[in-house]
Order: sequence, then C-alpha cells, then structure tokens
Amino acid sequence: MRSEIRIDLAALARNVRTLVRALDGAELWAVVKADAYGHGARDCAPAVLDAGAGALCVATVPEALALRDGLRDARILVLGPSSEDELANAREARLELVAADGRIPEDLPVHVKLDTGMGRWGTSELVASGRNVVGVMTHLATADSDPGFAREQLRRFLEATEPLSHLTRHAANSAAALRLPEARLDAARCGIALYGLSPFGTDPADDGLEPVLSWKSELTLVKLLRTGDSTGYGRRFVADRDTWIGIVPVGYGDGFRRDLTGTTLLVDGEPCQVVGTVSMDAVALELPGELRTGTPVTIVGRGLLLEQHARVAGTITYELACGIDSSPGRARRVVTS
Ligand SMILES: *Cc1c(COP(=O)(O)O)cnc(C)c1O
Repeated sequence: MRSEIRIDLAALARNVRTLVRALDGAELWAVVKADAYGHGARDCAPAVLDAGAGALCVATVPEALALRDGLRDARILVLGPSSEDELANAREARLELVAADGRIPEDLPVHVKLDTGMGRWGTSELVASGRNVVGVMTHLATADSDPGFAREQLRRFLEATEPLSHLTRHAANSAAALRLPEARLDAARCGIALYGLSPFGTDPADDGLEPVLSWKSELTLVKLLRTGDSTGYGRRFVADRDTWIGIVPVGYGDGFRRDLTGTTLLVDGEPCQVVGTVSMDAVALELPGELRTGTPVTIVGRGLLLEQHARVAGTITYELACGIDSSPGRARRVVTS
C-alpha cells in the first residue's frame, strides 16, 4: 500500500445535519462539484441526500450527468455555464441550469444569477423572464473574510429580487450559512463545510464540523544521513548532524504538493517535519531516531487537520482537497458508513 484515503460517510452525514440545524428552516443544497472536493461524488452525493440535503450542485453538465445515473429523483443544479450542445442532454437528465449571461435556456428549470459584487458569473441587471425560471441567486465574495461587504451584496440582491420573492432565492455558501444568518434566505449552497473543512481556515470543530477525509501511509524506508548528507532533489535538506529520516511513498503526484516542505505529519502519532524537496512519489521526514519500516504515518487525521497543511502551503483547504488523487494506482480508497 502506498497510502490509504478514508472517507467517513457517517461524519459527512453529521456535518449535513449540523448545517441543516444552522440553516434554521432554509434548505441545504449540497455542493459536490470537483468530485465532491476530492472526496468522491459518487459516494458522497447519495449520503448527503439521505442525511437531509434538498439538492445537489455541481459545476458542469457532465458532472451532473455522471451523478444522474445512480440518483433518478434528486434535484441537480449545474452552477457553471453550459453550452448550447449540452442542453439536450441536460433536459433529458432533468437538470436545473444557471443563467449567468442574460440568456435563459428553455424547457428546463433555470436559476438566474445576479452579480452583486463577485465580479464573475452573473449579470448586473436582473433578467428573469420566462416561466421556467424557478430561482434567483447570487454568490458572495467575502462571506469568510469581510461580512460587511457580504451584507452589502445581500442588500443589493434583496433589493433587485424583491418583486421575485415567489421564486427560490439563494445566496449563501458555507461561510455565510454558518456565520451570516440573514444570508440563509430560502436555500444555502454549501460545499466545503459538508466535508468537515472550515471555510474560515480555522479548526472545523469551532463550527461543530468533523473532517470526512483522512489519509495515512507508512515509513517505507528509514535511513541515517551522516553530517553533510542530503535528501531529495536540489539537496535542499543537508544534515548538520547525524539524522534519521523516513521516506513516505506519497508525493505531489498524489496531491501532496511541493510547497508542503516544512509541514508536520504524525509518525506513530508523534509530529515529524517534512524535510527537503517533495518529489512526485516520495517525501522525507526527519525522525527522532531509528524507527522500523512500516511505522504508520498520518498525513491527515488523528487531529492533524488539512487546515494546518494549507497554512504551510499558503493556500486553502479547498485547493488541497481537490488535488488529492485517490485513484486506484495511487491510493487505496476506503469508504466507511
Ligand atoms: C462552489 C460554490 C459554492 C460552495 O461554496 P463553499 O464555500 O464550498 O460552501 C456555492 N455557490 C457557488 C455558486 C459555487 O460555485
């Protein structure tokens, strides 16, 4: 085994229930785009629906079609743009689309997107004619970082959609669902929080969330570097004294990025630092002494949060999670319920 990725569907279900409680009557729509943020949409989508989500959201028509096979009755919204030649398939699969450029596709349910400050998809004037328009939406740029601007976006949205209050109005992402009660409206589109990752980059437990993904491997080789010896490409780590290092068979080809040098993994539960350059298929840890090969290494889990790695890499958990490759040639994937 190179590494093992575990997906805990019971934790996922508890996160769904936590969000449903926080939403206090608004519907929870579960965002499972990008293969459920790297957690596996095929496993996560039915689990979130069972736990109380009212709909699924994905980014593309092909992502939606892949889910439709197993989920005949679920509402599936495509948040991103769809092209003319995808419309026939979208209709046949009973998808709901988002109109983000003023054109409203016909013969299927449409949510019209208003740009209230994200400066991305959506029109700045609301064009919401058509009997097939079922919802109006906007997307918040700063729900995790600047609630003042998020409230201003919300004010613009409510003002523009006032005459359309008979439609489903939705604006909140995870951060807004958790911390901005007035953004909950009729439904909230939550992604990151479902997976027990904090939209604020802090400890998910602060918001009652539990990580769904854990990732472990083992020391495949343990060796002694003598003073002056180095490990890895570029000799970026040179031992300044006799140093035991352990090699873990995981690297950037698995989604353990090159900028994670310096982060901490747990070797038999004890924190050890990643030293030297991360390779495609291997990473080195500085050990406290000689350990046996086969000693378990926790990459994520047992209290070691993806948020900690994100801080070291200067990125967000969203990006790290989406990058984890749990395809069969890379990792063993275990799903528990
Ligand atoms: C991805 C996405 C979301 C989910 O955001 P989280 O921060 O993961 O909760 C919500 N709405 C839209 C339009 C999105 O693209």
